[in-house]
Amino acid sequence: DQTRSLSPIRAEVDTTAITANIRRCGELAGGAAVMGVVKAGGYGHGALTAARAALEGGAALLGLAQPVEAIALKRELPHAEVLAWLLTPDTDLDAAVAAELTLGVAAPWALDAVEAAAERSGRTVRVHLEVDTGMCRAGVAPEEWPAVVARARRAEEAGTLRVEGIFSHLACADEPGHPATDAQRERFEAALADATEAGLRPRWRHLANSAAVATRPDLAYDLVRPGLMTYGISPVPDQHDAAALGLRPALRWEAQLSTVRRVPAGSGVSYGHTHVVPTDRWLGVVPLGYGDGVPRSASDRAQVAVHTSTGTLLAHVAGRVCMDQFVVDLGPAAQGTAPAAAGDRVTLVGDPVRGEPGVEDWAAWTDTISYEVVTRIGPRVPRTGP
Ligand code: PLP
Repeated sequence: DQTRSLSPIRAEVDTTAITANIRRCGELAGGAAVMGVVKAGGYGHGALTAARAALEGGAALLGLAQPVEAIALKRELPHAEVLAWLLTPDTDLDAAVAAELTLGVAAPWALDAVEAAAERSGRTVRVHLEVDTGMCRAGVAPEEWPAVVARARRAEEAGTLRVEGIFSHLACADEPGHPATDAQRERFEAALADATEAGLRPRWRHLANSAAVATRPDLAYDLVRPGLMTYGISPVPDQHDAAALGLRPALRWEAQLSTVRRVPAGSGVSYGHTHVVPTDRWLGVVPLGYGDGVPRSASDRAQVAVHTSTGTLLAHVAGRVCMDQFVVDLGPAAQGTAPAAAGDRVTLVGDPVRGEPGVEDWAAWTDTISYEVVTRIGPRVPRTGP
């Protein structure tokens, strides 16, 4: 019995969906290689779980921001190529080099620091050089780029570094048709030409995030870096839902109703009584709250699917989301029979194809982006396999 075996709350990760989504990204990118982007704990799904599933789907590399996360992953998956691209002057580069990470170099100081760490270790360190083509976040500034590629080439000759990749990141790919994307492509082409002129021959040129994979296959180059789509979430939900992109949601976030009770018309619900029931209603309590990553801005706005003994009903969040629980409205109490019972399974995030709310719905209800919804799911929520 599914209900009985359910822990009261859980996030079930369908690894077969991640594997299939990686393959699908490769298809959408016209056969380019795919990096499994597993930063921030695999977008909340679990970095190791996501990484294994991505490799199963043929991911050529794994990519993360923080070296600490990357070292932990590399320890579990010593044969995987793992790129970490967010270095700071205090990053323990000796540990990163000893772990055989591939390192993103996004500033001139980082080139010096990685080369020095390579010299200390006596190894040749694999690097991907990041050029800023117009996001003004990470990446070597265009005016510093020619000097950086020339120095990187000298480091290759000295045997300290091997430039395996050159990449940049798009700022506006989730707004198809935004002119910044083509401007970034042009600057990327110029940066690649500078690198070629300096004598660099990187195996991987990469620019595309999920939104570019979905809408701009012409920007795939040798390798694409889809994060969100790996998890079966649409990066452009206003244009294409995940199913239309051929993706399968990997996350199922569920809980069990802790209470079902009837309240009379006029009752105020939860803190501040922001919700007052208009008629006699059945209310249910879900044992998850903002302490678990349910956005407080979902108060009075989001919906969940409640799986009862007779079917599935959609129930609105009633009143404010609390730290550990929130209330849902299960319907009018006129007939007297409760529509659901304590112990019934509740799906916060499931499969929209089955009529359940998706991550994209939660993002819309809470005025944020899908990225924030999944990465906020807290440590109290056990991640489980299917
Ligand atoms: N590449 C870099 C450098 C990133 O910072 C990110 C995430 O923000 C990604 C790729 C993946 O982006 P997305 O999840 O939009 O596909």
